[in-house]
Amino acid sequence: MDPILERYHALEEKVGVYTPNLDTKLLFDAFTFADSAHKGQLRKSGEPYIIHPLAVAEIVADLELDVDSVIAALLHDCIEDTQATHQDIAKKFGEPVAALVEGVTKLTRVQWTSKEEEQSENLRKMFMAMAQDIRVILIKVCDRLHNMRTMEYQSPRKQREKSLETMEIYAPIAHRLGMQKLKWELEDLSLRYLDPVGYKEIEDQLAERSSAHEEFLASIQHRIQQRLSQEGIHCTVYGRVKHIYSIYRKMYAQNKTLDEIFDLYAFRVIVDDIPECYNVLGCIHDMFKPVLGRFKDYIGTPKPNMYQSLHTTVIGREGIPFEVQIRTWEMHQTAEYGVAAHWKYKQGLANKKLGTEADFEWVRKLLENQQDTDAEEFVRTLKVDMFADEVFVFTPNGDVVNLPAGATPIDFAYNIHSAVGNTMVGARVNGRMVPYDTQLQNGDIVEVITSKAAKGPSRDWLQICKSNEARNKIRQWFKKERREENIVTGRAAFEAELKHVKIPLSAVTAEEVLPHILRKVRLGTLDELYAAIGYGGTTAAKAVARVKDELLRLGRLQAEKAAAAAKTTAESVIVPGMSPTVDPVQLKGSNKHNDSGIIVEGLGNCLVKFAKCCTPVPGDPVIGFITRGYGVSVHRADCPNAAPDKRKPEEADRWVKVSWVDSSLPNYKTAVEVSAKDRDGLTLDIAMALSAAKVKVTALSARSLPDGHAAINIVAEVKNKDELNFVINKLNNIQGVYYVARASGK
Ligand code: MN
Repeated sequence: MDPILERYHALEEKVGVYTPNLDTKLLFDAFTFADSAHKGQLRKSGEPYIIHPLAVAEIVADLELDVDSVIAALLHDCIEDTQATHQDIAKKFGEPVAALVEGVTKLTRVQWTSKEEEQSENLRKMFMAMAQDIRVILIKVCDRLHNMRTMEYQSPRKQREKSLETMEIYAPIAHRLGMQKLKWELEDLSLRYLDPVGYKEIEDQLAERSSAHEEFLASIQHRIQQRLSQEGIHCTVYGRVKHIYSIYRKMYAQNKTLDEIFDLYAFRVIVDDIPECYNVLGCIHDMFKPVLGRFKDYIGTPKPNMYQSLHTTVIGREGIPFEVQIRTWEMHQTAEYGVAAHWKYKQGLANKKLGTEADFEWVRKLLENQQDTDAEEFVRTLKVDMFADEVFVFTPNGDVVNLPAGATPIDFAYNIHSAVGNTMVGARVNGRMVPYDTQLQNGDIVEVITSKAAKGPSRDWLQICKSNEARNKIRQWFKKERREENIVTGRAAFEAELKHVKIPLSAVTAEEVLPHILRKVRLGTLDELYAAIGYGGTTAAKAVARVKDELLRLGRLQAEKAAAAAKTTAESVIVPGMSPTVDPVQLKGSNKHNDSGIIVEGLGNCLVKFAKCCTPVPGDPVIGFITRGYGVSVHRADCPNAAPDKRKPEEADRWVKVSWVDSSLPNYKTAVEVSAKDRDGLTLDIAMALSAAKVKVTALSARSLPDGHAAINIVAEVKNKDELNFVINKLNNIQGVYYVARASGK
């Protein structure tokens, strides 16, 4: 019979052993499909190509994976290397098989080696994420194992590349899935090409002593077997020399020669149940001298990858230490095949479909048992795979970039660098130009095309991108690049808002005020405030509200100071935003000149002064009183002190008619008193109203009254009564003010 066909039949038999009601026709169809698809192709060894998928299917069958997996293994290179398509396979063998083959093909297309050590973990994650179905990983690991077994036919460069990839990706994945047997073989095969000298050294030394080793192993095995039979324990015992890579690691890590390696030998005792394990342990410790501190109970505390066994190291009469591992058959299966063993048991239990959520649940539990952080990362990765909230893509250099699921080339570009995103003019995925809103898939190779002439990001990108990182960087760009523009629009909005609430810009920009305002809005300069408004970081209304708060606070502070000062000195206060050079005022003696704007009937050019009780201004009806020695004192006609009933009869002659004429005096000082409900910022509002009315204020004092009211005395200079009325009107419009009076009497 044709040796290849013979090999197929051996496979069919192997699968049949663990698969009841195996559809042999379907399996054979898969074999012939692959055989004819690969027709004419040769392996590097010169054999027909079909040998490889057949061998991979054998390894898959050794793991006792389900029939779909075996068929997928037979077909695993068809999509990649032959004319066959996903549809062809789906039609003949069903969509689940086609999906497995497609999954393996995707993993095959990726180069998994990286120059950077720290990229390895990312690559492993991506590997897991891309697989989706854990069977894809298992088939791929089997594929790699066969390729490593036949690596001798490849070029030295390819040997090193594939070996590195195996050491970095495949062996750790096999380890984490608990498949120790595959892991060891992958490691040893890789080491052979990665450090041929080191490998050969160990291999030669082991070979040199192989007969001694064999003798030792056989002797110990026999003694254990014998003793346990005497005890009536049903068991299987065998010994082995540890695998080369683990010896290699120990030699290098501990800088020891092969002779100095503590436990070169390992024996396994496999029994039927857990109590037997402990019985065996007792016997072993009775037969040989246990090495202190080397006993480990992985039955009570399984290893992270679900590995269970009792480990102990003992020394026999020969003085050679060796390790003994004691376990049940079930533990043995898990130790050898890990995740794959799970499928094996599952198949016996129910005819459930594989690769379902329940299977992932099991794997997740398995991995969640793992305690080291490395493993935690791995659990997270596996979850990523299942819940798909992350996507892993490559840069053209082969670096892995980790993005949220649904990420686009925009996210990718900004993940690389904001400068890359800001100058992006196009993107390629797997060599093809794509629109910016393309959702990236695991394993995609993404390339960003940049140009110095790029106009920068578009606002649409904010909607398209998926990561906060990209969104923030795009916003940042708009903030920075459009600064001038932002300042102009921000300033306009700010000033309009100030106008709206009747605060003069000068009240904000005054040198003693501005630093307080900027501190309040937490910005360094007024331009920054404008820019923030222009960019939309804040609104003009919000900014002005804060400005107002701050002005009020400052005003209140000043009023308090003034109130304190008023007790000892002339009542006078400088209000922020007002001219800082006002002097305390003394009304007495002002306007003493004959060009006071007053004509005294019948007296011509005489000394005139304005009464401090009522401070008349042009436009007020006035009356004069001839004082004794101080000229004519001019009162408002309605001044209580000038009221006819108050005039003493003996002084009737002294009251004279006076009237206003144009004078050289530009302004007249006059006093008003504001009564208001006391509140924060009242004084400030008053000061600002006066400032807005362009009135020169020479004194302003405020005092809080005990009943919640406030009295504010103002001395201002006005041209005439019209202007004064205008000012009074303004003051009356201030919130809380209920009365504004001209000073009079007293
Ligand atoms: Mn292959």
